[in-house]
Amino acid sequence: MNIILLGKPMAGKGTQAKILEAKLRLPHISTGDLVRREIKKGTVFGKKARAYIAKGQLVPDAEIISFLQKRLLKKGFILDGFPRTIVQAEALQTITSVDIVVDVACTDAIIIKRTLARESCTHCGAPYGLDKQPKKKGVCDSCHGTLGRRSDDTKKLITKRLAVYEQQTKPLIDYYKKKKLYIAVDGTKAIPIITEEILSCIERVK
Ligand code: AMP
Repeated sequence: MNIILLGKPMAGKGTQAKILEAKLRLPHISTGDLVRREIKKGTVFGKKARAYIAKGQLVPDAEIISFLQKRLLKKGFILDGFPRTIVQAEALQTITSVDIVVDVACTDAIIIKRTLARESCTHCGAPYGLDKQPKKKGVCDSCHGTLGRRSDDTKKLITKRLAVYEQQTKPLIDYYKKKKLYIAVDGTKAIPIITEEILSCIERVK
């Protein structure tokens, strides 16, 4: 089954994708994570992508499509963060089929609050945020590593990323509604409730 998780940045797509990966035994492919890995490795693509991320912009379609093309499994995945434009959706259609598009819907006010609270352990990667705060400020509960923040998790850049979503990603809602693949879940609910809603939608299209 090929699943796309759509939604604003910080809507909870990554959290749900990780849970669904374990429950459905499908690989979670996050373009954001893949891009950050390239930046860390210092590849040519990573260096280009870094400049866009620093401005809160999307990596240009041609670049991200050719990057993902080599990494996308044809059958069985949970795609998180792709497609983000109509051009990307059309490219995806030429690579593989899509069975369901789940929009994790959330308000801008909650997104901004979550973004400014997001931290993760620089050592083990454990995530922290509004719903899970570390016992000791700045220190990971599990491994005592130092907590860090994503460079694009600032008020200025999340505002820009939300504007980019409105302009470039939101049109995908109508695009996938027309293809009868679109469903929306309330991303402001508790994490396990959202998961249950997504799973029951997936059951219906199986
Ligand atoms: P994310 O972790 O999904 O919020 O992605 C972080 C950043 O990576 C985005 O703000 C973009 O600059 C870049 N990125 C991730 N996925 C895409 C995509 N599908 N198209 C273009 N840029 C992307």
